[in-house]
Amino acid sequence: MTIQNELKGKRGVAILHDPLLNKGTSFTETERDALGLRGLLPPKITSQAQQVEKILSNIRRKATDLDKYTYLVSLQERNAALFYRVVMDNLSEMMPIIYTPTVGQACQKYALIFRRPQGLFISSNDRGRIKELLGNWPHTDVRMIVVTDGERILGLGDLGSCGMGIPVGKLSLYTACAGLPPEQCLPVMLDVGTNNQALRDDPLYIGLAQERLRGPAYDELVEEFVTAVHEIFPKACIQFEDFGNTNAFRMLRKYRDRVCTFNDDIQGTAGVVLSGLYSSLRLTGGKLADKTFLFLGAGEAGVGICNLIVQALVAEGVSEAAARAQCWLVDSHGLVTKSRTDLAEHKLPYAHDHAPMPDLLAAVEAIKPWALIGVSGQAASFTEPVVKAMARVNARPLVFALSNPTSKAECTAEEAYTWTEGRAIFASGSPFAPVTLNGTTHVSGQGNNSYIFPGVGLGVLASESTRVTDEMFFVAAKTLASLVTEEDLAMGRVYPDLQRIREVSAKIAVAVAEVVFARKLTSMPHPADIASYVLAQMYQPEYEQYV
Ligand code: NAD
Repeated sequence: MTIQNELKGKRGVAILHDPLLNKGTSFTETERDALGLRGLLPPKITSQAQQVEKILSNIRRKATDLDKYTYLVSLQERNAALFYRVVMDNLSEMMPIIYTPTVGQACQKYALIFRRPQGLFISSNDRGRIKELLGNWPHTDVRMIVVTDGERILGLGDLGSCGMGIPVGKLSLYTACAGLPPEQCLPVMLDVGTNNQALRDDPLYIGLAQERLRGPAYDELVEEFVTAVHEIFPKACIQFEDFGNTNAFRMLRKYRDRVCTFNDDIQGTAGVVLSGLYSSLRLTGGKLADKTFLFLGAGEAGVGICNLIVQALVAEGVSEAAARAQCWLVDSHGLVTKSRTDLAEHKLPYAHDHAPMPDLLAAVEAIKPWALIGVSGQAASFTEPVVKAMARVNARPLVFALSNPTSKAECTAEEAYTWTEGRAIFASGSPFAPVTLNGTTHVSGQGNNSYIFPGVGLGVLASESTRVTDEMFFVAAKTLASLVTEEDLAMGRVYPDLQRIREVSAKIAVAVAEVVFARKLTSMPHPADIASYVLAQMYQPEYEQYV
């Protein structure tokens, strides 16, 4: 963003009301005179650092996380640079507020806390005019779009239009974690109705109070949206987020070879989990090719992770069929086996010859997996007997309870460590506080796709890639794993410290951009020094001088 372009002759209140321009009390005397701000601000000029201090003290006095969320969102709406400064410098404290778990509560209350449009609401009533709606967005150089239809918000189910909190939160992470300029980010809610009856009955609900659109009418709406994006924002990448799984898999198949797009729940999650598995090998020993994986949950995340594990095993020389045979899924009807007749298409590659197993405990005992991965949205489904069964067959049992938000986690960090006498290698989708057991403190990692998608997005955009491929998530996983230190592992964490996320994202972006150039997915010339090139693209939330 160049300030002169952005100012476009704006003066006075128009500047203060523009979150990309506003610096609040940090405007200098000269700026106040030149831009018609005198009198609109209290006389004392403060630095950004002083503003940060004030914001932090205000946030920390808020009674609930949801209060903190609303406070931070309103800061984002009035002063983007200050918001990102606060978030970036205090990531471990702020991420659970602007992202999981608090964003889940925010979505559940979105109708009440909605104040200003932070993204575009496109509804099924807008068929035929989506291009016009995209043109209403105030920024013309949009590069990253996160779109949801609100059908599967975290593990909370169908929240319809209230799911808008997710694209908003994800894009905030793009900026905070990977430096995508905020004006290049566009959150979109594709409101096709909701099957959540309580929302439809709520007079304050903000979306279309009608049954979800399905079938050809749904597909035509998405098609119009994708085509319109391509026309209005030709350099944009579209991230599909929190769609129900039948639409998610179908849309990914339909668009991945046509436009620059990916599905974070399927592909981003796979990247973060594969990375956690690589790092865990440093604690357990052995090769991925010799391991067996059991998933609770056979949806976007479960099948997406299996698909990437298969790629990783194939890269180690395992045949595709043998690699698939190492991945086992349990869904709401038990173990996914060949004899079942109720399986959705995406589960079929992982339906193996095995006697039916109605429950997870029986499956763990029969399959004796090296890793147990929860992506079911079912709280407390990793029971004590299940985790103890993992601990009987593994010296260091891998237990990843990845469902979000915290209330949906398959087990807590404390449970995993207690039930395994501290031997578990534990990761969770939403953060858990460190656990001290018999004098040892275990710091678990956050197995969340936020370690992956910001860096992948940055790499794709910096290299002007025309596509997003699975190989990019594979190299992202390897890069992320390479950044886990011995100190991280010693405390029990198979992911790098969150505070290093910008460095992590930049390194992932470089690895992704190398794939883009190697596979000729761009017409851009290869920069002489790709790492410095990527770093130079990253937004810094610093105040610029306007005059
Ligand atoms: P999905 O709806 O596609 O899949 C959910 C799966 O869970 C389905 O296969 C369903 O059959 C299964 N399931 C439901 N009830 C079950 C039960 N009682 N026992 C066993 N299986 C059951 O959803 P998804 O996109 O795969 O997401 C699932 C969960 O994973 C959500 O809670 C989501 O928040 C979480 N997730 C976490 C991350 C992360 O980065 N940590 C990323 C993506 C998804």
